[in-house]
This record gives sequence, structure tokens and C-alpha cells, in this order.
Amino acid sequence: MSNVICIAVDGPSGAGKSTVAKAVGAALGVEYIDTGAMYRAVGYGMVQRGIGVGEEDREKLEAFLQDAEIDFRQGKVHLNGEDVSGKIRTPEISKMASDCSALAAVRAKLVAAQREMGRKKSVIMDGRDIGTNVFPDAKYKFFLTASAEERARRRLLELEAKYEAEVAAKGAASMEKPEFEQVLADMKQRDYNDSHRALNPLTKAEDAVEIDSTHMNIGQVIDFILDRVAE
Ligand code: C5P
Repeated sequence: MSNVICIAVDGPSGAGKSTVAKAVGAALGVEYIDTGAMYRAVGYGMVQRGIGVGEEDREKLEAFLQDAEIDFRQGKVHLNGEDVSGKIRTPEISKMASDCSALAAVRAKLVAAQREMGRKKSVIMDGRDIGTNVFPDAKYKFFLTASAEERARRRLLELEAKYEAEVAAKGAASMEKPEFEQVLADMKQRDYNDSHRALNPLTKAEDAVEIDSTHMNIGQVIDFILDRVAE
């Protein structure tokens, strides 16, 4: 029996998955893998190369995916050796990540890479389809949710901080000033896309433990997961 363990943390965007998974990984000494960052890196690479998600760009997309190397170095996602972690959290790349994640070629590439990462060492992976598709036999599965309004409120705080930092550093920002109504509308649209796509849609695995974090703080969610894993 291998003693490699996998902890799957799935759920919609803005539920706090990455903050929680990173902290649980650090507490357990297990590598944290942010699979959303991998879809974002692909989305970023497509935007850079002017590749769209339509049928007319399929060959270009396949050529790009064939050579694309996506990996993590010191926790930062790299695309073909370039650290893109600071460039993938904009509304434009969020949308492209969601759009490209519906394509079979993109999912096949990234799911294979994720399975390889979890094959030899223990990992905590967050995403949409980890417990249902990437590691259906994961020993621990959690489904982290919160109301759309609460998730939009948290995302707004992140975007505002990024916006203010860019304005302070450069006098202008690469994105428009974030507004709650827009952030909420984008979030609902992504929830819809992620849970209605044909391939590996966002859904709770039957055997996942659901955690609704609407009225919980990050520390409470981390402790809840650590308690379950220690059982
Ligand atoms: O988690 P994050 O919001 O960074 O993910 C970006 C996008 O990548 C999501 O909207 C989703 O469409 C896609 N994704 C996915 N499967 C995963 C992780 C993310 O389809 N396992």
C-alpha cells in the first residue's frame, strides 16, 4: 500500500478554497496544488498568442498545448518557464480560464498533469473536479461553498487591493475599478458556466464533506478540515 495521500478541495470560485488548501497543506507538510491557476495559465497563454476558444483556432490551440509546460516552482505557477502567477488574477483571464476549461483538449492536458503530480507524492489539490474526476479515489474530499453574495464580497476585497496597489505603484491600473454588482454578476456567470459545461462540471462528489463557509472564518474552515484529516 502506498502512503501517498490526496486531499481534494472542490467548490465554486471565491469560496476560499486556495487560502484554506494552502494553509492545510502547510500544516500537514503536503504540497498544495492550485489547479485553477493551471487553467488560468493556459488562458493567459491563449490571450498572449491571440488564440480563441472557437473551432477556427483549434489547430493553433493544439499546437500551443502540445508544447506548453505548466508547473509550480516555490508555489508559483509557471508557463514555459515564465512565472505568470502575478498576471492571471484579472477579470479578463478569469473569463478566459473559465471559457477554455470547457475545451476537451485543455482538460485532457491539465488533468493528465494533475494526476502525474499526485501520483508520487501527497498533495492537497483545489479545483472543480478533483474529487469527481482527477482523483475519484482521494482519501479525503471536501466541497467548500458560500453564498454568491459572500463570495463576491470577498473577491471584491481582493480586486480592490490589487487595483489600489497598481494605482499606487504605476499611477494607473491594468483593469477597471472593481464594482460589487459587476463582480457578483461575473461570479454568477462563472458559477453557471462551471456547473453547466458538458465535461467534468462543478458538482459535489457523493462522498465529499460539504462545508458552507458563509458564516465561518478561514481559521474555522482550516480547523474543520485538519480535524477530519486527523480522525
Ligand atoms: O479556481 P479558479 O477560479 O482560479 O479557476 C479558474 C477557472 O478554471 C474556473 O472558473 C474553472 O472554469 C476552471 N477550473 C476547472 N477545473 C478545475 C479548476 C479550475 O475547470 N479543477
